[in-house]
Amino acid sequence: MKKSLILGASFLVWGTTLFAQRKCGIVAIQNHIAATNPEFAAKLQERTANLQQEADNYYAQEKLANTSGKTTTVYSTIPVVFHIIVNSTQLAQLGGTAGVAKRVDSQLAVLNRDYNRQNKDSTLIPSSWKPLYASSGIKFGPAHRDPAGHATYGYEIKTTTTTFVAGSTFDYGSAKHLSSGGLDAWDPTSYLNIWCIYFSDNPTLLGVATPYSLTAAGGGPIPYAQMGVCVSYDAFGKRVNTSDAYAGSGVYDLGRTLTHEVGHFFELHHTWGDDNGDCPWMSTGRDDGIADTPPESDQTFGNPTYTITGGTVYDACKMNGATLMQPIGIPCLDYMDYTDDKAMHMFTVGQVGVMKAQVFSTTAENFTLTQHPSLLNWPAEVSEVEGNSNLNIFPNPTDGQVNITFNEQGSPLNEVVVTNTIGQQIQKIDCSNVKNGNFSVDLSGMAKGIYFVTCNFASGSITRKILLQ
Ligand SMILES: [Zn+2]
Repeated sequence: MKKSLILGASFLVWGTTLFAQRKCGIVAIQNHIAATNPEFAAKLQERTANLQQEADNYYAQEKLANTSGKTTTVYSTIPVVFHIIVNSTQLAQLGGTAGVAKRVDSQLAVLNRDYNRQNKDSTLIPSSWKPLYASSGIKFGPAHRDPAGHATYGYEIKTTTTTFVAGSTFDYGSAKHLSSGGLDAWDPTSYLNIWCIYFSDNPTLLGVATPYSLTAAGGGPIPYAQMGVCVSYDAFGKRVNTSDAYAGSGVYDLGRTLTHEVGHFFELHHTWGDDNGDCPWMSTGRDDGIADTPPESDQTFGNPTYTITGGTVYDACKMNGATLMQPIGIPCLDYMDYTDDKAMHMFTVGQVGVMKAQVFSTTAENFTLTQHPSLLNWPAEVSEVEGNSNLNIFPNPTDGQVNITFNEQGSPLNEVVVTNTIGQQIQKIDCSNVKNGNFSVDLSGMAKGIYFVTCNFASGSITRKILLQ
């Protein structure tokens, strides 16, 4: 039985955008495939039914490696690139280039915590669910080399008036190609590509993932160069200030839209099986293929109330005849349900097994993402001079504006000197006695390349290399 949708207060955000409920685009892709390519849709359903087997096989291999002492392999962090494609108003909403830099940093921190059982709100997981709370071991870092080997901060920003729609493959493919006004993927065998855009034909959409299985490489209809994740431009990153602009009047501001979408990228499905409210044992019912996520009739919105000591939330799939099917309730606290960011807390052991199977098995579809650790390192020409860890000069690379933040208690900043690579002084800014910890330098209009920014504090000097691009 399909639950009635909770149509409570709708929030007016950024003009006409309504974000009252989480919405993710992978269902539209799957529905399109079901309507146009039933044979492939049947294969996808068969794979979904076998996902737990993939997890079991992975765990069996892992156990074998453990018992035979072959556990020395260290899997590298996955290099991530954010392609931010917005208009100038949207870029301003993000806080400009500096705001984007902060959102990228906070988003990667959220992914690393959520995928490695380090999210602090795990204290809210009920005791009955705690044994299922699992760590994937998958780590994410900003790419510091682009495909040409040039320095990058792990993101690129394109301001444009071009708008993007779902298109024939329902994955906003036009945003993923320079030729149609977007930005090309960086080699999808080496980088996890994330496009941050405005979904102009579906402004309430938060994100849509394109996993390997839906691309041509996996037998699907979507070009391989479009593999990755698209996210609403104002739904990535974790809120720092109350004034920061985020989708959904603040309920999608903890970075968990990408925790959810990257789960799809690693082949996870929604916990309720996308079957319009049926239960898995019904003739038209489907399941997420994972054994330890209890059956769920439909998506859960909002922030469900349950107690930590074992209180549970049930839905229409609670009973199958006389059998209790949801002894620990529904998976409304799972990253793959539709709740608000603050209500999601975990992946299960089964889900993590599926993701590990895609990433860590040498023949797996996403294995190559772990095989390019050099992409995480800065090219030699921008290696940072070690200095005061409190000093932050960003963004680097920059397109002109350089922000300097510091926490030099009792040691004010007196001047900033910018020199080029042959030691010529390009700019000298007398800022005597700046104590507030925030300063900026404008390098726009100068020739692109490497510069040294020296901050002369009362207590000493610190120099950092900056790439102007
Ligand atoms: Zn989803």
